[in-house]
Amino acid sequence: MSDYPGAGSVRDIWRTTHDPIRPVEDGEALVRLDHISVDPGMRGWITNKRSYMPPVKPAGVMRAFGVGEVIESRAEGLAVGDQVTGFTGVQTHGVFKEENLRKIGLPGVPPHLFLSGLGMTGYTGYFGMTDIGQPKDGETVVVSAASGAVGSIAAQAAKLAGAHVIGIAGGPDKCSYLTDELGLDGAIDYKRDDVEAALHANCTNGIDLYFDNVGGDILSAVLNQMNYQGRIVVCGGISQYDDFAGATGPANFMTVVTHSLTMRGFTMRDYMHRVPEALGWLVPAWKDGRIKFREHILEGVENFPDAFDMIFEGKNHGKLLLKVS
Ligand code: NDP
Repeated sequence: MSDYPGAGSVRDIWRTTHDPIRPVEDGEALVRLDHISVDPGMRGWITNKRSYMPPVKPAGVMRAFGVGEVIESRAEGLAVGDQVTGFTGVQTHGVFKEENLRKIGLPGVPPHLFLSGLGMTGYTGYFGMTDIGQPKDGETVVVSAASGAVGSIAAQAAKLAGAHVIGIAGGPDKCSYLTDELGLDGAIDYKRDDVEAALHANCTNGIDLYFDNVGGDILSAVLNQMNYQGRIVVCGGISQYDDFAGATGPANFMTVVTHSLTMRGFTMRDYMHRVPEALGWLVPAWKDGRIKFREHILEGVENFPDAFDMIFEGKNHGKLLLKVS
């Protein structure tokens, strides 16, 4: 990365470089990366705004989660051939301290699944919905960006808790995925439908719990239909990420007061110590078909800017990954 961008494409600040790999020192391992995770949150890592982690340094390697194989090790707990994950950056190879890598691997499970449904976005959907949202049998739950990596897990977790779950997504394909594949009770195409009217039609008992991934106008429409003492899990606000200077809050924010709502934000940083618990739920639920997720895999480290742009255009169908070697 070369400098912090304003609004606009990451393409303007991305450079693909060919640098020598530095020697491995004691306590470190060299990893050949297979897949890199491309995430909306990366937007926040390349601004100077106060956030939950420092920005990527100009001229540094773009921060990203990745999975790969140890090909050289001077770390006690890592051997050649181990599959590992961590903040590896958008690159094909990297030398990392042992404490910054986590061993992964389940027999018969491709490692890149630990970047998607069995990885950070899976954990986010699981903890955000079950620990913060706490959906109950018979409640009405709405999830935005519901066909995506986080939203699809959150929506299915609510469904498994017995809730009436309505997903919001862009386009007919994503909406039929929500109802036909994931078994949600309804889907709203925010690019075509009048969201407020569609919420009214789908949520006849009002909305008890909203899992927000997008903020903006959709949050406003949901706020108008929240039930008394309803809960809003603020997971993200992707509709606001493109305009660093001009993000605005909903004009009807006072609904939080008039309806005694609880709004709670979180990041996965709050839950890193509980990852084994998330895996203990996700892995069996995925293996026996109670939850599904999908991946959208592009190839080539140099294609990172194209991949990144897709997220903000809604062109990814599932967790977006970049295969880098
Ligand atoms: P997704 O796989 O859902 O991809 C992003 C999707 O967002 C796009 O495919 C698109 O789907 C939708 N989208 C893009 N622009 C807009 C817009 N302007 N208005 C409405 N929807 C839009 O990504 P993730 O599941 O990884 O991330 C979803 C959210 O969760 C993001 O806000 C992200 O920042 C947040 N997040 C939060 C974490 C946390 O720790 N709190 C951790 C990880 C992610 P569509 O075609 O349906 O519009």
